[in-house]
Amino acid sequence: MNELAIHGGRSVRDGRPWPAWPRFDAGTEDAVLEVLRARRWTLSWPGAGEVARERLFAEAFADFHDVPRAIALDHGSTALTVAMELLDIGPGDEVIVPAVTWVATASAVLRVGALPILADVDRDTGCLDPSAVSERLSSATRAIICVHLACTAADLAALIEVAGKAGVPLIEDTAQAHGGIWRGRRLGTWGSLGTFSFQSGKVLAAGEGGAVLLHDDAQWERAQQLRADSRSYAESGSGRMELVESGDVIGANRTMTEFAAAILLDRLPLLDAEHVEREGQASAIELGLADGGVPVVAVPVPEGMTQRSIYEYALQYGPGAFAGVDNTTIAAALTAELERPVYPPDAPLFKNVLFRPETLRRYGSIWTPARRMRSFMGNFFGAQEYAQRTLLFHHSALLGSEQDASDVVTAMAKVHRAASSGQLVAV
Ligand SMILES: *Cc1c(COP(=O)(O)O)cnc(C)c1O
Repeated sequence: MNELAIHGGRSVRDGRPWPAWPRFDAGTEDAVLEVLRARRWTLSWPGAGEVARERLFAEAFADFHDVPRAIALDHGSTALTVAMELLDIGPGDEVIVPAVTWVATASAVLRVGALPILADVDRDTGCLDPSAVSERLSSATRAIICVHLACTAADLAALIEVAGKAGVPLIEDTAQAHGGIWRGRRLGTWGSLGTFSFQSGKVLAAGEGGAVLLHDDAQWERAQQLRADSRSYAESGSGRMELVESGDVIGANRTMTEFAAAILLDRLPLLDAEHVEREGQASAIELGLADGGVPVVAVPVPEGMTQRSIYEYALQYGPGAFAGVDNTTIAAALTAELERPVYPPDAPLFKNVLFRPETLRRYGSIWTPARRMRSFMGNFFGAQEYAQRTLLFHHSALLGSEQDASDVVTAMAKVHRAASSGQLVAV
C-alpha cells in the first residue's frame, strides 16, 4: 500500500475513472443537431431568416461580462491576432508578453509582424511581473499582454498602472480564466481588450473557438470586418446572407462555426455553477492538505479576487519540501498514483521547443539574431522558480465526487512521505 505506484506499488486511484470532459447534456445534443439539420453551419451561408448563433453568442458573451460588445472567432490565437489588429500593431512594434504562457500568446505577436518581448513572471502566480514589465518598456512598445494563468489572475492593479503610465494598452489573454472575478468585475474586462479561447480543454469549450471583448462600436465594426473577409453584419433574412460587403478594413476568414456557437450558447449559462463546483473540490483538497500536514498549497490569487476560474489547478510547495526531489519526478509519481496527468508548468518561452520563429521564413525579418537577443534579454528567475515548485492538473478532475478530492490529498501525502523518507528518487 505504501509502495509508490511509480515503483510498481498499488496506485491511490486504483482504477477508478475520472469525470469526462468536455461536458454536454441532452440540451447540447439538441442544439448541435438543430444546426446540422438547418444546414446553416456558418454565419457566411444563408439562413432561413434566423439570427446567426455566432452573433447571438457574441451578444450573450458581452452580456455575461457586462461590456458593450464582443466578437466571436474561430480560435483563441485568432482573438489575440484580431486584438492586435484592432490596435493597429505591426512591423517595428514591440509587444510585452509573459515568459511563461501557452506559446500562442507570443506567436500571435509575430503573426502581426511585431516582436514579442519576454518579461519575467511572479514566482508564486506565474503571471506577468509588473516590475519586469517596466524594465522591458521601450519607445517601440505598443501593447502589454498579460495572461491570467492556470487558476489565478495577473496583478491587474499594478499592470493597469504600469500600462497607464506608459500610455500603452493592456490586453488580457483570458484563455485560462473565463468567468473569474476580481474586484467585482470579470477578468477580460479590465484591459483595453480581453481575449478568450474555447478550445476543448478550456473551462468553456466548443472544440475550437475564440472571442474578444470590446468597449465601443467603432472597435466592433472593425472587428467584424477583420474576422469575415472584410464583411459586417447585415440584417438577417430568409435565403439572404447575414453579411454585407463593406470593405473598410481588410480581414480574413476567422468566423466561429454555428456548431461551436450552439455549444457555447448552451454551456455559457452553466459556467458560474461549474466554478462553484470546482471551488468546492479545490477547497476540500486545500483543507485536506493542511489537515494532513502536507506542505503543499494552492497558488495564491490577487487580493480582491472573489471567484477563481480554475483551468489548470495549480499546487505549490516551498524549497526543500520534498527533500530536494525535483518537480518533474514528483509530477511523475503523482501521475502514477492518480492515473491522470499531473505536470510541471510549460517551459518559459525562451527554452520552449514550441516557440521557434526561426523555422518559418516569413519571420526572418522580425526574428533576426539581434531581435531574438532583445526578446530574450534579462533574467527569468521568477519563471524558473515557478516551474520548479508548481504542479498542475486539468480542471476536469474537480468536477466529480468527494472521493476524487480525497484521492488527490492521499496521493500528495503518499508522495510527500516517500520523498521525505528517501524512497522517491529522480527518474
Ligand atoms: C489556449 C490558449 C491560447 C490559444 O487558444 P487557441 O484557441 O488554442 O488558439 C492562448 N493563450 C493562452 C494563455 C491559452 O491557454
